[in-house]
Amino acid sequence: MSAVLAQEPALFEHTADALTWAYRQEGAHPEVSAATKAGRGTAHVGGRGLGPTIEGSGNAGLIKAEVMRLGEVPGLVIAARFSLRALPCGCGAPCCKHTRPSPVWTAATRELARMAADHAPGTAGYLRLRVACVERFFGVKESFIDVARRNQLAERTVSTHNKAIATWLKSEEGRAMHALDFRLREAGIVGDR
Ligand SMILES: [Zn+2]
Repeated sequence: MSAVLAQEPALFEHTADALTWAYRQEGAHPEVSAATKAGRGTAHVGGRGLGPTIEGSGNAGLIKAEVMRLGEVPGLVIAARFSLRALPCGCGAPCCKHTRPSPVWTAATRELARMAADHAPGTAGYLRLRVACVERFFGVKESFIDVARRNQLAERTVSTHNKAIATWLKSEEGRAMHALDFRLREAGIVGDR
């Protein structure tokens, strides 16, 4: 089995590339194609089952199944890290900014913010603050001052909450990536190309 896999180059060289690709499959083919055309991703549309095809979604499902096997918190952390924060919107409304919030990203960050109360010491009091801290960890650029002002809290309260939540999420993400690295290599999805 391993000899067969060794002859066949893996689909992705890096675990992060595999996850980025898998989490951008649903309703996000334009991004995948754009990334591929720009030479940024390792995906080759039409060649190795990575195009917007049934085979492609099968591979994405396989990658996501490995994520789900890790458990609830790691699954949410990986979804928040690798799914798109916003999706293209073509609703045509005059006020439309041509993007809409991604339901996957929003649900993952909200749920992690809820769970942070039990995992990040001293953060149980303010749900909205936890949401802001989780969003910052997953790439939203908002300063402590702005978060403090918006929630009518002291800047120091924001920074202590942020530290506790970021520490928790960082450790969860590190463990999840380590486990996925192992599992996706074992599955022949990630490896030398
Ligand atoms: Zn719209």
